[in-house]
Amino acid sequence: MESDAIVLNTTDHGESDLIVTLFCHNAGRLSAIAKGAKKSKKRFVNKLEFFTYLQVTYQQKNDRALAFLSEAEIYTSFPNIRYHLDLYGIASIIREFLLLGIKEGEADLNIFRLSLWAFHRLDSKKNPRQVLVLFLIHFFNYIGYRPDFHTCASCNRKVHPRDRYRFISASGQLLCSGCNQHSRPGRPLSYGTIKMIQNCQNQPLERLHRLKFSGAILSESLQLLHNFGRQIFQREIISWQILEQQNLGFDTYSPLHKGL
Ligand SMILES: [Zn+2]
Repeated sequence: MESDAIVLNTTDHGESDLIVTLFCHNAGRLSAIAKGAKKSKKRFVNKLEFFTYLQVTYQQKNDRALAFLSEAEIYTSFPNIRYHLDLYGIASIIREFLLLGIKEGEADLNIFRLSLWAFHRLDSKKNPRQVLVLFLIHFFNYIGYRPDFHTCASCNRKVHPRDRYRFISASGQLLCSGCNQHSRPGRPLSYGTIKMIQNCQNQPLERLHRLKFSGAILSESLQLLHNFGRQIFQREIISWQILEQQNLGFDTYSPLHKGL
């Protein structure tokens, strides 16, 4: 079988083989053994790196079986993502969400296109943190968790610029200040952030690049999506620490990265 695929993970298998986790265009998540990938340099050299976009040829007995990877041809290895620590950090968060969210034997063309869009945008160094926000809003939508940013979950009133709101991660809903008498936990959200996320939810992939998240709206959106992601998968998103630990100035490149 042939498929376009993105490399999501690799683990050593014995002395010379690798087990590769792929996100396949036609099969969703796929685990495949690449025989000799660690030793014979010819067939798979530099091809099975994280994020690399490939055409693969593989054999598989059934949906659940470990596939046998026979060939891989690179479309792009996204070289900039590899050489810029900040881009790599964001790509790693996307990779972690994909590993959590996509399923074996279930193709998802929307998520596949969205992932390629995100890696291409990162590789062209376009506002990496904004790429993450746009990716996550659509990713959560595609896996069936589309938060409602239009009405208050309790009184059902439409979101209004003069009211104040909190986002309840557990349900993916907003609560207006009037309905939040008991001060339920949840992050306060500005009206600007609510409108931007609404807008993003309604835009097709082709138009996402026109949206501009910046300043407080960008950081509020990142916090919200981080918390919501943890809630959905009921676990910590390990690679998010890269964002928190390294304040690298994601929108403007620091001198550290200019030489790379
Ligand atoms: Zn309300």
